[in-house]
Amino acid sequence: MHLAEQEGTRVREYTEPWWVKLPEGFSTPNFDTTIWSPRKPLVIVQSRLIDASAPVYGYGTPEPGDNDLTAQHAGVPLGEHITVHGRVTDSWGRPARDMLVEIWQANAAGKYVHDHDPTPKPHDPNFTGAGRTLTDADGWYTFRTIKPGSYPWWKDREAWRAQHIHFGLTGRGLTERYVTQMQFPGDPLIERDPVVSTIPDAKARERLICQLDWEAAIPGITIGYRFDIVLGGMNATPEH
Ligand code: FE
Repeated sequence: MHLAEQEGTRVREYTEPWWVKLPEGFSTPNFDTTIWSPRKPLVIVQSRLIDASAPVYGYGTPEPGDNDLTAQHAGVPLGEHITVHGRVTDSWGRPARDMLVEIWQANAAGKYVHDHDPTPKPHDPNFTGAGRTLTDADGWYTFRTIKPGSYPWWKDREAWRAQHIHFGLTGRGLTERYVTQMQFPGDPLIERDPVVSTIPDAKARERLICQLDWEAAIPGITIGYRFDIVLGGMNATPEH
């Protein structure tokens, strides 16, 4: 059954006229959002903008505390507090320095802060779920956050998203944009995750799973995880 024919779900919100079906070959059966794209023609970006060498970061440079998602409100967020760090490199292993690393995620219950999250779960008044930082001269980044909860896949009531954190990396040019999602080791939901399963290469899927890292832990406060991101080549972290 086509998504637009489903009754009683929020799916209808995603069938507004500004979506249009992509030609066959662009879609991935297990991730049917891929069959939709904007109706309007793509905008040709002027070459001068593509080649921009100046920073294109949003509104100001990240502040030191922007990478601590547990300290954005008056109280302490619920959930398992974690440190997530890693190194961003290119296909040759060279550090990707001064990249803007942005993350966004659900709270410990598996609820996003925005109003379009249809899951009947509670918001956490002490957790927004968004942070950002810059990689250092050797490509390293660090975040302090909470382990996000799993959440049901809104298009299939039997499917669940594995616990994950979204990553968006931006370089110095408009075209230097890399988006992926980090999963957690030992999560039984990964195997049938509707988004992860769109990546056909099993070894590539493994590269989306962070590793427990005792060195990164803050004793008594956080559990540490390491998630390295390779931006290209044979060992690239899959974009998804
Ligand atoms: Fe998500």
